[in-house]
Amino acid sequence: MVRVAECVIMQLTHCLYGYLEHDYPMMARALAQARQAADMGEVPVGAVVVANDGTILAEASNNCIAAIDPSGHAEMRALRQAAQVVGNYRLPGVTVYVTLEPCPMCASLLVCARIDRLVFGASDPKGGGVVSRYRIGSDGLLNHRFSVTAGVRAEECGQLLQEFFRNRRQFPVVKKRDSG
Ligand SMILES: [Zn+2]
Repeated sequence: MVRVAECVIMQLTHCLYGYLEHDYPMMARALAQARQAADMGEVPVGAVVVANDGTILAEASNNCIAAIDPSGHAEMRALRQAAQVVGNYRLPGVTVYVTLEPCPMCASLLVCARIDRLVFGASDPKGGGVVSRYRIGSDGLLNHRFSVTAGVRAEECGQLLQEFFRNRRQFPVVKKRDSG
């Protein structure tokens, strides 16, 4: 009975917000990546890159801290992997799933990669590059635009980030001083 109700709600949501059938399971995979990032002490954001035939090309999570890389965002890493898999730095027809609205750097990368569609979970009112602060991806001044579906599993995606930052405030990482 619960499952039937869930299905009805999902169908209604698809109709209302333009979600596609596989948006939920793909976002679940992105969430799994985000949880892995949290376990490693990284900001919990995950991304999945899917070809237009449904093939998963790449999955990645944030690893800025471990890689000492300011560009180590989940979308950036997943797109680099996907380009290697396809053998092309352009990724037409591709859908990118990410748990958090991309920042301006990653939104610009999505334009460069010529992706077809972006699906994200939680919005980022402070730094979002797609709908919240900037509108990269629908800007007529740029040479490529992609469609955007926002808010897929937004609550779970946002909760993960909130929990992560709450824990970090409560238990800040004590930096070890270099004894040398
Ligand atoms: Zn980014």
